[in-house]
Amino acid sequence: MTTVKLAALENMVDSFAETPKMPALFVGHGNPMNAIEENLFVAGWRKMIENIDKPKSIICISAHWETRGSYITAMDKPKTIHDFGGFPDSLYKVQYNASGDPILADLIQKTIHTGEMQLDYNWGLDHGCWSVVKQMYPKADVPVIQLSIDYTKSMSYHFNLAKELAILRRKGVLIIGSGNMIHNLRLVDWENQHSGYEWALEANDGFKQMILHEEFDKLINYKKLASSFQLAVPTPDHYIPLLYVLGLIEKDEMTEFYNDTVLMGSLSMTSVKFG
Ligand code: ZN
Repeated sequence: MTTVKLAALENMVDSFAETPKMPALFVGHGNPMNAIEENLFVAGWRKMIENIDKPKSIICISAHWETRGSYITAMDKPKTIHDFGGFPDSLYKVQYNASGDPILADLIQKTIHTGEMQLDYNWGLDHGCWSVVKQMYPKADVPVIQLSIDYTKSMSYHFNLAKELAILRRKGVLIIGSGNMIHNLRLVDWENQHSGYEWALEANDGFKQMILHEEFDKLINYKKLASSFQLAVPTPDHYIPLLYVLGLIEKDEMTEFYNDTVLMGSLSMTSVKFG
């Protein structure tokens, strides 16, 4: 099937009301239990959305939806996906009943030029998305769509795709990348709940510095960085959502870090808000 590309998203969303610019958020989601616990990380997520108007819609790029080809959820009622094992029943009982936004999904599908986007009617909301959004918007009164991570594509593809979406920040759309900058499950230190290996602390500081100095080329080409970063990002799934958020930002936007924590040796919860 060929898709006829229409005008850029920028022109197509003219009909959407202009709003104050929404922030762009990268959220370290960590343990799925954060969906139902009250802890400092959850408090940090809520703080990230303090003082912003209720969004018209949310677009979430979650580490947990990797696909061949790019997809965007387009159903009216996305289901809550419990994509994890070995957790208490109470977590499996959670239903996050936000509606979808088929009109926005369709608009994005028709107008993105960076790649071919396809509409998806099967996925829903995975825990990378709902565990975070539920804590931010517990009433589920903001429509949510997810954008998949095409694992066949380069890091710069993801960054460039996000650039096309940036206009939506001025149309009341909150875009959230949900992953973890440091995510090495193989090296998790179960005895060490509250701190990190030296390389992890080094990588956490390094990522923050590069973000603050807008060194996006380095962050896109993370494979050329020092060994601490290679240990931090053994596979790109939890890192790519950060590249989407970096693609959304404008020069010299206010940058605030939240949940700036390395834990269990090889994980970080460090989150960042732009704008
Ligand atoms: Zn995860």
